[in-house]
Amino acid sequence: MNTRRRRPLRKGPQGKDSGKSVEEIVRELRRQSGPAVGYREMSLKVNGLICAKCGREFDFKDRHLLTVHHKDGNHLNNPPDGSNWENLCVYCHEDEHSRGLLGDFLKKKDI
Ligand SMILES: [Zn+2]
Ligand SMILES: [Zn+2]
Repeated sequence: MNTRRRRPLRKGPQGKDSGKSVEEIVRELRRQSGPAVGYREMSLKVNGLICAKCGREFDFKDRHLLTVHHKDGNHLNNPPDGSNWENLCVYCHEDEHSRGLLGDFLKKKDI
C-alpha cells in the first residue's frame, strides 16, 4: 500500500555547512558583494583622484596608485558622504601607517 519511497534525510557525519563559523560565512558574503571595491570607488568619486596628503593628482589610468585610508581606522565605517575616507597615494598611505598605529591610536583618544 504505502509504496512511497522514503528518502532518508541526509545528515552528513559532520555537515560541511554547519562546520562554518558565522564569521566565515560573513566573510564570504562580504567577498561576494565586495564592499571593499564599493567604498574605494565611492571615495575616489567623492574626494577626487588626488592624494589628500601630497596633493599629487592621478589619472584614471593610474588610479590604482590611489588608496582609500579610513580616518578612524575602521574599514567597516563607510559613510556615503565620505567623511571617514581620505584618498592617499600608496606612498603617503604607507607613510601614514608606518608613522605608528599606536601614535594614531593615542591621538584618537585625545580627540
Ligand atoms: Zn601622496
Ligand atoms: Zn589607511
